[in-house]
Amino acid sequence: MELPEREICYRALQSRDPRFDGLLFVGVTSTGIYCRPVCPARTPKFENCRFFGSAAAAQEAGFRPCLRCRPETAPDLASWRGTSNTVSRALALITDGVLDEDDAKVEALAARLGVGERHLRRLFVQHLGASPVVVAQTRRVLFAKQLIHETNLPMTEVALAAGFGSIRRFNEVFQKLFQRSPSALRRNPSVHSSNRETGVTLRLRYRPPYDWDSMFGYLRTRAIPGVEVVEDARYLRTIGIDGFTGTVEVTHLPERQSICATIHFPHVQWLPVIIGRVRRMFDLGADIDTIDAHLSLDPSLAPLVAQRPGLRAPGGWDGFELAVRALLGQQVSVAAARRLAAQLVSRHGVPVASAFVTEQRLTHVFPDAQRLAQTTSIDIGMPAARRSGLKELAKAAAADPSLFRPSGTLEAAITRLRKIRGIGEWTAQYIALRAMRETDAFPAADIGLLRGAELLDGARSTVSNLLMRSESWRPWRAYAAQHLWAADAATITESRGLYV
Ligand SMILES: [Zn+2]
Repeated sequence: MELPEREICYRALQSRDPRFDGLLFVGVTSTGIYCRPVCPARTPKFENCRFFGSAAAAQEAGFRPCLRCRPETAPDLASWRGTSNTVSRALALITDGVLDEDDAKVEALAARLGVGERHLRRLFVQHLGASPVVVAQTRRVLFAKQLIHETNLPMTEVALAAGFGSIRRFNEVFQKLFQRSPSALRRNPSVHSSNRETGVTLRLRYRPPYDWDSMFGYLRTRAIPGVEVVEDARYLRTIGIDGFTGTVEVTHLPERQSICATIHFPHVQWLPVIIGRVRRMFDLGADIDTIDAHLSLDPSLAPLVAQRPGLRAPGGWDGFELAVRALLGQQVSVAAARRLAAQLVSRHGVPVASAFVTEQRLTHVFPDAQRLAQTTSIDIGMPAARRSGLKELAKAAAADPSLFRPSGTLEAAITRLRKIRGIGEWTAQYIALRAMRETDAFPAADIGLLRGAELLDGARSTVSNLLMRSESWRPWRAYAAQHLWAADAATITESRGLYV
């Protein structure tokens, strides 16, 4: 496994260095417990420390999670240091539950990623120190532990939410790992009360810095009436999964380096999927130090990175919704695209179940692919050719529910998307960036990106120039794009402020 030297790891532990949180876990041989590097407990002796690159590896080695620093609350790094995109994509799919079924096979996961099963196992051991199945199991245990500590959901619901097949299995796993029952771990049962009225509230940590203002501004400008409300430092939206509807609310807790998500949804077994989407949308898994440091190597990009440290690439809530937004946004302004989306929602969206509505302006769930594919005509104010493009997109997404999930390589994803009529290179790259969270996606023909690039050195840029230039930004071109867009948007706002 790729870890720093033992001495460096130990120094991180001695200084409780938050930069290593989520990247490094320490197993203490004298106690059998593993910790985050920021654990407030007394630093163990050097010779008693074993270092791991993931919680799964520490658990696989027989250590149990610390009850003080709670390894389940470490930042969950999604893009694995940029060294293995295959591992990052596999982690995204595991978060979506592909290994949660009893008969789920690593073989199928590997096939989806275009690699052999043995190669995938090798990559996991190399980068995470544990096999894909162990990683999936550890995630379930740690998610259950988080629900036990942060909510008062009954244990049967915790077991269900964390993907355990039965309460018996859940009890067995916890007994083996902690030598006590799950309920014995619940020391402070009413941190957040969790019921139909209050919803389930969880804190999700990120690695600082985090440019919340940019993220919030981005979401506010694009909020779709009926589906999203973005104001007073709160992001609210409707959610629709598997025929059920609900809502989610997100706020920022900067002093805890976390966001807070409150979910109202009828079935707890969808919680991991909903949490996974929140993480992706708010880009909580970014290894932001590595990304900012890499982009700062380009002297012309460095000032932009310095201006907005911790700038994230916002993700789409749902692949199909994001693709539709991209299509509606072709050749029109952000405001016009938003109006079209509002029309689409009011005419084709599904009313949200009133029991889960926490805000009256949240009225509809964004229409899913099945619904738009089956409707006789998509009734919104845009040219017939683009309306039929939208219909084609809906049909393609309805036929392949995994169309917008990660698989193979970025190039393969772009090729697959471009087979859909109405999706060109720009749209495909944009979907890969926001929906699939491909960190190297780069829609070079974007007018905002070209204007942003002009700000770097004053010279007009062409698509091919920009592409050439972007080579040194790999594998983080999506973040370079976000910096260029942010710089461009700031200039437009400034000039309007001056001249209007
Ligand atoms: Zn600890």
